[in-house]
Amino acid sequence: MAQVKLRVDDRELAVPAGTTVLEAALGNGIYVPHLCHHPDLKPTGMCRVCIVDIGGSLVPSCRTLVTEGMIVKTGGAMVEKVRRLVVELLIVNDHQDCLSCGKNASCQLQEVTRYVGADQQRVQRFKAQEHRPVDDSHPFIRRDANKCIMCGICVRTCDEVTCIEAIDYAFRGYAQRISTLGDKPLQESKCTACGECVVRCPVGALLPRQGTPPSYSVKTVCTYCGCGCGIHLGLRDGKIVGVTGDRDSVVNKGELCVKGRYGFSFVNHPDRLTTPLIKRNGQFEPASWDEALHLVASKFQEVQARHGPDSLGGLSSARVTNEDNYLFQKLLRSLGSNSIDHCARL
Ligand code: SF4
Ligand code: SF4
Ligand code: SF4
Repeated sequence: MAQVKLRVDDRELAVPAGTTVLEAALGNGIYVPHLCHHPDLKPTGMCRVCIVDIGGSLVPSCRTLVTEGMIVKTGGAMVEKVRRLVVELLIVNDHQDCLSCGKNASCQLQEVTRYVGADQQRVQRFKAQEHRPVDDSHPFIRRDANKCIMCGICVRTCDEVTCIEAIDYAFRGYAQRISTLGDKPLQESKCTACGECVVRCPVGALLPRQGTPPSYSVKTVCTYCGCGCGIHLGLRDGKIVGVTGDRDSVVNKGELCVKGRYGFSFVNHPDRLTTPLIKRNGQFEPASWDEALHLVASKFQEVQARHGPDSLGGLSSARVTNEDNYLFQKLLRSLGSNSIDHCARL
């Protein structure tokens, strides 16, 4: 692809044609604060935090394509004054409780505010008193409209990434917020609870309800269905406390469904079977694998002897590997039966 040369501050850059100014800067290690930009989504230029000076005009760098010989200033008195005001308006009604916020230390608004600075006296003067109710209706997702900066990342994610379109902008002026059709709680909307909006929300407005930070993570593959999405299990004290999608996985590129992302509590559930059970005198009793396998084999022989090989059938699962499914059909065929099926999904 043709290369375009430009100057960003004191650096000469060469980037492929079609690159935005923001991508050119970030890709070359030049920080330009931004909030509504996400590499997975189309740029909208909504937050105005990424403004830069090009030829004396302030333009949103996320929506401006590079051109040959362009001269970009990412700072300067005017850029910094306007950026600071934009950020002050974003933090004016909330964001005073960072220490108790689930996004603390990974919040993009904190990072941007630290970079641009904020005049706390002015912020206090702008403050409106309205406090919006927190939507706690959902079993997996907590929505706090007070912390929303209206960047639209969740709306675009639900539209462009998941194609569900469960949420959108609602109401006008100060009353504007992100909501569902009919302003219903998320739980009653058509949201599939995939959590894709939650992982992209730059602030604490969308958070998982199970929010314990892990002490380490393990890369593995989701066992729920045959897709085989790549995941990172977050672990703490030997227990799974969270799941994130593996962006390096060619299967899912970091995306997950509700089961893979939030359905992990069964792993450590006390009711989970950890040993085979055999029913004796009407009661299930723990047994060894040898005992259980011998019992199953003898029952197979009994059925075969009484009704012939075709009377046996096998139902396997998409939760096991292809290799296990191959061996399963081999087993059934070696017993003389071709009656083999599986559940493609849960
Ligand atoms: S969303 Fe960010 S800035 Fe706001 S309270 Fe939470 S951590 Fe602080
Ligand atoms: S909920 Fe989060 S992602 Fe959605 S608009 Fe608000 S801040 Fe942006
Ligand atoms: S959880 Fe998924 S379906 Fe629900 S609003 Fe977010 S992106 Fe849309």
